[in-house]
Amino acid sequence: MKKTSILVAGSGIAGLGTALALARRGQQVALVGPRPDMQPPDLDEYHPRVYALSPESQSFLAGLGVWDVLPANRVTPVQAMEVHGDQQGKVTLEAWQAARPALAWIVEAGLLERTLAQAALMSGLTWHDRRCTGWHHDGQASILELDQGPALRADLVVAADGARSAVRAASGLAVDSHAYGEMGIVTHLEAELPHQGVACQWFSEEGIVALLPLPDTRGGRHLVSLVWSMPQDQARALLGWPQAQQETFLAERLAVLTSGRLGHLRVRSGVHGFPLFLEQTSSMTGPGLALVSDAGHRVHPLAGQGLNLGLGDVRALVDAVAGREPFRHAGDERVLSRYRRARAAPLRAMKLATHGLHSLFSSEQVPLVWLRNQGMELVERLPFIKRALIDNAAGQG
Ligand SMILES: Cc1cc2nc3c(=O)[nH]c(=O)nc-3n(C[C@H](O)[C@H](O)[C@H](O)COP(=O)(O)OP(=O)(O)OC[C@H]3O[C@@H](n4cnc5c(N)ncnc54)[C@H](O)[C@@H]3O)c2cc1C
Repeated sequence: MKKTSILVAGSGIAGLGTALALARRGQQVALVGPRPDMQPPDLDEYHPRVYALSPESQSFLAGLGVWDVLPANRVTPVQAMEVHGDQQGKVTLEAWQAARPALAWIVEAGLLERTLAQAALMSGLTWHDRRCTGWHHDGQASILELDQGPALRADLVVAADGARSAVRAASGLAVDSHAYGEMGIVTHLEAELPHQGVACQWFSEEGIVALLPLPDTRGGRHLVSLVWSMPQDQARALLGWPQAQQETFLAERLAVLTSGRLGHLRVRSGVHGFPLFLEQTSSMTGPGLALVSDAGHRVHPLAGQGLNLGLGDVRALVDAVAGREPFRHAGDERVLSRYRRARAAPLRAMKLATHGLHSLFSSEQVPLVWLRNQGMELVERLPFIKRALIDNAAGQG
């Protein structure tokens, strides 16, 4: 069995980004995973999952030559963020306050996957349209087992196969997992008023509601994407209701929770739910193995940073592997330890920030309720704290 230098397991955004970035840096790399849907979407239909990409993720994708080929009419710059507390507390962060063109960009998951897949195919890298079923290291090579055909051998296997990673499970690495007891309910809404490039978030007793700006339809209708982190029982009940009941409930509750900020909101796509977890694998590496993105960690979506964190892993891994000394192979322990070290602090910081914010805003204790709203009022009046928050929101803290 011939040995490859690097095998990337998983063909989501993190896996495709890793394979493409390594290929662009002259590495011998092959990808293993199902091919995404390559059909272009209908003009006014949007993929149910959208991501707020940070400036760092945007510049990584630009470096791969992928950003500039995304259709401009499907990428929405976020010019400002409005965060509302539960007692009139409010913070507004605007891109101009930190001399930035945008705080983030909203992009559909399907569009990004398709564009990355096209670039990967055009780069000529080998793509095995298979699923991984197991992994082990035999002392000489890192071995990936597939659902069909012979196993593949490499110096380094990169696990980018998502939150339920088969490679991670086979590695025996422990996962520290905390279920929030919440689900992220996502759907697209038609808004009566234009969003003007503002992403809004409300922390309330009924959960955390975010409205992310989407492009207007050709007919001039205003669209936003909803992410509502709500208690699991309520989310499961909602997902089980008939469509008309879901639509009435969402329109009525959102009108109250958002205080009519974008006028009347009407559901215009399917309603989906994702259980929410805080997860961290005991190590981001094993012998001849590196984990990236959701295969290694998950955070609460309240800061919209899960994929951005994952693409941070990808950048650090590609730098460690492509920048190694000529006498080391890609799975050398020294190379992997450089990757581990590079990611230790950012992963810890993001975990603390998202979990800390979640705890602060889910507490009913009077001093904390007071603190979070007073804190927001204070931030609103202090430009230097605002700039620091903008850098953090943009993933550059
Ligand atoms: C409600 C919600 C909202 C979010 N919003 C944001 C946001 O605004 N911004 C942000 O940065 N992040 C956000 N996130 C986080 C983001 O969704 C994830 O971090 C991101 O999808 C991880 O990408 P990934 O490529 O690691 O994993 P996935 O997207 O899960 O991709 C894994 C890939 O591996 C493939 N695969 C799986 N098993 C196998 C196997 N056995 N063999 C081969 N291939 C396999 C799958 O087909 C898939 O292609 C949000 C998450 C939730 C739940």
